[in-house]
Amino acid sequence: MTKDYYNILGVAKNASAEEIRKIYYKLAHQHHPHKGGDEAKMKEINEAYSVLGNPEKRQQYDQYGATFEQARTQGGFGGFEGFRDFSDFAQAFRSGGNNNSSFSFEFGDLGDIFGDLFSGGGRTRTKTRQRQGADIQAEITIDFNEAIFGNQKTINFERHQLCQICGGKGAEPGSKVKTCQTCGGTGQVLKNIGFGLGFPSVCPDCQGEGKKPEKFCHHCRGKGVINQTENLTVKIPAGIDHGQAIRLEGKGHEAGKGSAAGDLYLKIRVRPDARFKRDSFNIITKAEISFTQAALGGKIEIDTVEGKVNLKIPEGTQSGKIFKLSGKGVPHLGGRGRGDQFIEIIVKTPTRLSKKQRELLRELED
Ligand SMILES: [Zn+2]
Ligand SMILES: [Zn+2]
Repeated sequence: MTKDYYNILGVAKNASAEEIRKIYYKLAHQHHPHKGGDEAKMKEINEAYSVLGNPEKRQQYDQYGATFEQARTQGGFGGFEGFRDFSDFAQAFRSGGNNNSSFSFEFGDLGDIFGDLFSGGGRTRTKTRQRQGADIQAEITIDFNEAIFGNQKTINFERHQLCQICGGKGAEPGSKVKTCQTCGGTGQVLKNIGFGLGFPSVCPDCQGEGKKPEKFCHHCRGKGVINQTENLTVKIPAGIDHGQAIRLEGKGHEAGKGSAAGDLYLKIRVRPDARFKRDSFNIITKAEISFTQAALGGKIEIDTVEGKVNLKIPEGTQSGKIFKLSGKGVPHLGGRGRGDQFIEIIVKTPTRLSKKQRELLRELED
């Protein structure tokens, strides 16, 4: 006995494709098992829609009814399993909230989802695109002076490197490479998302290569790479600042034979120095002078990144006065020239005076 698909969906025999589609979404929403709906009912609805939602099948169904039903159960076509995948899939692509219902999307969302996939926000590997190893992020802490003048540093880090046994091919030496059965050598499979639609995705069996070895390399288990510790001497350029990073091309993970390695990003942390503050390529320091030095002038010794130098204090220097030492700042990264050092003068006002000092100051006041 033929099931009445129109009755199951609750639509008229002459309902438009649009109406059928709308009612299907409504029902799917109501009866979805994830939302506490009845699974059997949902199955029935899916079955009805798989026929009525497809113009060709609907026509067949209208014309032949029972015959068609028979053909279907004998495996004429593959039901409607895809939809569930699609909802999970849609959910996975939803960023942020708004995923309170796996069926809340409308048909128009398809465009967005495809857009996301094909514009490829990230590294969606396809057969034509070269594989690339992942980048690595690492950190190194250097002294204040090393940031100013540069240095050579040795770092240790873990990275995937080509397997020595198989040379990165992933195949056991001597074993044959054969065409991948799953994708027939194309490197891509069509993932069914329902509605008779599929989208191309990387073959899970050969990772898009289209072929795979008969026997995987025992050392790397077919990955072509092995995690190893690498010692690397890195040149720290003069003038680098805290928070900046050095990119070492090709020092990231390797991804097997014929693939480009990723890059290593070495983030620089600079240990602070109590004497110096850095402001871009300038160095800011403070120097305390005494009350009398301020009034009478004199020479003081100040710290620069190159050691101590003498600074002449003119008579009558005020607190807050800033002196500049040209060219005693930070070298411009990768270029010529150097910043300056600025010294802010702080006049220490005496807090404890002897009787004599007080008298002298009184005299000065007059
Ligand atoms: Zn190997
Ligand atoms: Zn494959």
